[in-house]
Amino acid sequence: MSAALMSTYQPLSLNFSKGLGTRLWDQAGREYLDAIAGVAVTGVGHSHPRLVSAISEQAGLLLHTSNLYSIDWQQRLAGRLTALAGMDRAFFNNSGAEANETALKLARLHGWYKGIEQPLVVVMENAFHGRTLGTLSASDGPAVRLGYGQLPGDFLKVPFGDLAALEQAASRHGARICAVLLEPIQGESGIQLAPAGYLKALRELCSRRNWLLMLDEIQSGIGRTGRWFACQHEDVVPDVMTLAKGLGNGIPIGACLARGKAAQLFTPGSHGSTFGGNPLACRVACTVLEIIEEQGLLANAERQGALLLKLLREELSGHPQVLEIRGLGLMIGLELRHPAPDLVQAAARDHGLLINVTRGKTIRLLPPLVIDEDEVRTIVQALRQLLDRP
Ligand SMILES: *Cc1c(COP(=O)(O)O)cnc(C)c1O
Repeated sequence: MSAALMSTYQPLSLNFSKGLGTRLWDQAGREYLDAIAGVAVTGVGHSHPRLVSAISEQAGLLLHTSNLYSIDWQQRLAGRLTALAGMDRAFFNNSGAEANETALKLARLHGWYKGIEQPLVVVMENAFHGRTLGTLSASDGPAVRLGYGQLPGDFLKVPFGDLAALEQAASRHGARICAVLLEPIQGESGIQLAPAGYLKALRELCSRRNWLLMLDEIQSGIGRTGRWFACQHEDVVPDVMTLAKGLGNGIPIGACLARGKAAQLFTPGSHGSTFGGNPLACRVACTVLEIIEEQGLLANAERQGALLLKLLREELSGHPQVLEIRGLGLMIGLELRHPAPDLVQAAARDHGLLINVTRGKTIRLLPPLVIDEDEVRTIVQALRQLLDRP
């Protein structure tokens, strides 16, 4: 770990020099199976030939002009994403946190037009929405907030998946609420799913109260759960949706999509970004969407995700170390009974398998959407052996 880097992460000493599809190679030439995909980012796999040529061609044509000019690729991407999500308009950022900042600004404007003096956004316990001051205050957990003093406090926190708690909050603070922001599946807090029907009920509540339903699909979107967006499993269309991670397959891009009145809130000058929506990032994202479509990766994510979940349950439910196995598509969590501090390292060292552990004791699997059946079986066998260790 370099002394010249600020100490925000504790990276493994593993250092990769190339990737192809679901595989990575370290500097010594050892091969690894990537079951984390750079935290749900490299969905179409590493070094996808079509992305490589799109990036090279665009680099030789034009990287950046700024939003002072029209950008063809940005318009194309906006058209494509809004059509897939059933939304009306897009704004492009460079990261997930920024996309959520965009959403939070829309919530504020919505409150302002409604004449609410101190608008509140409802957020969820154990949520994660990013690391900027605004998105941090929408997030939960003392670890990420400690030491940052007073954060913008205009949030009302309720338990995730608990409709009654939200209705109670609504009856107490209803007049101040302008929006509800949540992850359809909570990622960082260990792949937490809401009960069936929850999102639909939220949709109805928000429509009835004229609150914006804002879904953070930064981790769950772009095919991760076997649909383009996780909310599509419940046929729910939000008013605002944020995307990032899988959208650029590693080229930084975030997006905030909006529908109906939420799509009309910004006016020239009310929001902006220097890099956001540049020709390179937007062309890459357009290509990612094309690859997902042409290679049938939604169906693959659904099929391989279901197989992975089934095999994990067959092999590991009832295992003395395992508390719960849950997930949807290729977004899977294995909650252990006890923290497993050296598990990630052991998986890499002994099995050439890259996984993640979140919140100390939940193994998180976010393999690329291109994973195949043999690789799914390899992951399950490796995890079985890792958890069987004395
Ligand atoms: C990763 C993530 C973010 C933050 O994205 P960054 O690109 O790191 O800013 C926000 N929300 C969710 C649900 C995420 O998984």
